[in-house]
Amino acid sequence: MSDCIFCKIINGDFGTEFVYENEHAVVFKDINPKADTHLLVVPRLHVESLNELNDKNLLGELMMCVKTVTENLGIKSYRTVINTGKDAGQEVFHLHIHILAGRIH
Ligand code: AMP
Ligand code: ZN
Repeated sequence: MSDCIFCKIINGDFGTEFVYENEHAVVFKDINPKADTHLLVVPRLHVESLNELNDKNLLGELMMCVKTVTENLGIKSYRTVINTGKDAGQEVFHLHIHILAGRIH
């Protein structure tokens, strides 16, 4: 998707540093953090939201990314959030999982 900001980030267009990456997903810091640690787990595949996702395996891979990243960072307590749809606050229509830890801003 040429006009999708997360596809551009995955493509390296903005030089965004990845906290973690594998064949399925990349993980980077949210540009407008709402907690001390605020990361986004983003699938390499462009899927608009959970509503458009049909791949059970991909969801499993994304959740395993959450586990790997939090474990790597020594984070034992955190919240995961998936906003689905405009009315729920979804702003970027490329599926992503928020990881929020520490003090919420
Ligand atoms: P959502 O409201 O669930 O769609 O979340 C989108 C998130 O993407 C927001 O928390 C934004 O701060 C974040 N965001 C938007 N643009 C960027 C960017 N270029 N780099 C990192 N995070 C971004
Ligand atoms: Zn995209």
